[in-house]
Amino acid sequence: MTAVQPVPAQTVPATIIEALKSALGPKGWSQDEHELAPHIADWRGRYQGSTPILLKPANTAEVAAAVKICSDAGIAITPQAGNTSLCGASTPQGEVLITLKRMNAVREIDPDNDSMTVEAGCVLESLQNTAADADRLFPLSLGSQGTAMIGGLVSTNAGGVHVLRYGMTRELVLGLEAVLPDGTIWSGLTGLRKDNTGYDLKQLLIGAEGTLGIITAATLKLFPRPAKMELAFCGLNSVEDAVSFLSLAKRVSGGAVTAFEIMPRLALEFVCAFVPGTRDPLESPHPWYVVCEMSFGRTDGARETLEDALGQAFEAELVQDAVIAENESQALDFWRLRESIALAERGQGKAIKHDISIPVSKMAAFIDLASARIKAIFPDGVVVAFGHVGDGNVHFNVVGLDEAAQTALMANGAAISACVYDTVDEFGGSISAEHGIGILKREELATRKPVDVAVMRAIKQALDPKGIMNPRVLLG
Ligand SMILES: Cc1cc2nc3c(=O)[nH]c(=O)nc-3n(C[C@H](O)[C@H](O)[C@H](O)COP(=O)(O)OP(=O)(O)OC[C@H]3O[C@@H](n4cnc5c(N)ncnc54)[C@H](O)[C@@H]3O)c2cc1C
Repeated sequence: MTAVQPVPAQTVPATIIEALKSALGPKGWSQDEHELAPHIADWRGRYQGSTPILLKPANTAEVAAAVKICSDAGIAITPQAGNTSLCGASTPQGEVLITLKRMNAVREIDPDNDSMTVEAGCVLESLQNTAADADRLFPLSLGSQGTAMIGGLVSTNAGGVHVLRYGMTRELVLGLEAVLPDGTIWSGLTGLRKDNTGYDLKQLLIGAEGTLGIITAATLKLFPRPAKMELAFCGLNSVEDAVSFLSLAKRVSGGAVTAFEIMPRLALEFVCAFVPGTRDPLESPHPWYVVCEMSFGRTDGARETLEDALGQAFEAELVQDAVIAENESQALDFWRLRESIALAERGQGKAIKHDISIPVSKMAAFIDLASARIKAIFPDGVVVAFGHVGDGNVHFNVVGLDEAAQTALMANGAAISACVYDTVDEFGGSISAEHGIGILKREELATRKPVDVAVMRAIKQALDPKGIMNPRVLLG
């Protein structure tokens, strides 16, 4: 594990700790080491942190009271939600840690306005169910949805598998409520689609990784629930064929493609080896696989549309083999193959991971060139590039297949990442597609986007002049 120490850990005076305890009451804080343990290490086991106290406010007024106490004393705070950050963004390093997990109420659901207002501690999966109960769809969907909470999802501008149809979290938020770094409550909750009253303040907080304030509630967009979803698991020869198949599927279905995920053969082998109950659904092996999901407003014609797209793809030799999910349980099995890759990689061993995006049209050329460059500088490294190819985002990971290769991999991590990110820059891509910057990528960001970082620092200075909000991440 890495203990990140660019700034010395702060000492929080006992008087401030006592003031926080009395503002939040006995249920509103903890210093119990067993309770704190899961909050001070990250999901990947890469960062180990510390905190003098975990705050657990029950409402927005309590969040504001705690922030005001810290602000007046110049004490740094790290907000935490589900703690599934993959870049160390929610691991405190001596900061006061604040979790909004007790704030998990659905404040309002307005089906006619296609919106719901929810507190920051709501877990994504429960909100998908809340929307479904009201015969609506909340389309955000990702592997960590059983744990990740709205405050974290909004603060990282999370992506996931449905971005190509519904957009990132940024496009799913209509309004926010937040506590600003001086303890002021900003009430920007609105279900409006049109509101041209100057700067769009919510967009500053979305993706800010907790550096500009604490989000306490959000009004989210809902959509009609699809009457029918169809899913195919396909075997292909190349990424180029996958990109051509995507265009074809979008055209033939009239834009019904809601997810389009890619994985190489090796990723499927990892999953089948490390995740019990999984198997390759196709008869013979293929270099690449695609999970293609389509959603329809009507049941009739749905299956025929997917079959038509697949038929045309076979004819054009873009798809070599495919199986269509016969029912929901089989669709979940196919999804499991894709969603378990991160877990299976963890079973396989250490990896150097890159969450990057590239224009979809250049994806095949990027994967070819970046893989060749990695092979040239680190012959023992094997590239596993998988993920949301439908929106131009792949997780370009480099793994070692045995212990010696993994040790060498970790020693060469910086050179490998520099090679990948330089290639990303050449293709006009992004070094962080959806996971954010956190602690992991802040130096890369500062080096590669100096003007952007200077503007972000100016905004940070205006909103958080004492620099108390999550000071080590993003701009760190
Ligand atoms: C198995 C797995 C699969 C994943 N798949 C995806 C994927 O497909 N797409 C994707 O985008 N991400 C994915 N992730 C990454 C992660 O789940 C997302 O970044 C998610 O949005 C983090 O949510 P969280 O609730 O865990 O937030 P946390 O990790 O707790 O926090 C994330 C950031 O938000 C800040 N924060 C938390 N709460 C608040 C608040 N109330 N106000 C202000 N700031 C706050 C934290 O300080 C931190 O900077 C995956 C992670 C895992 C483990």
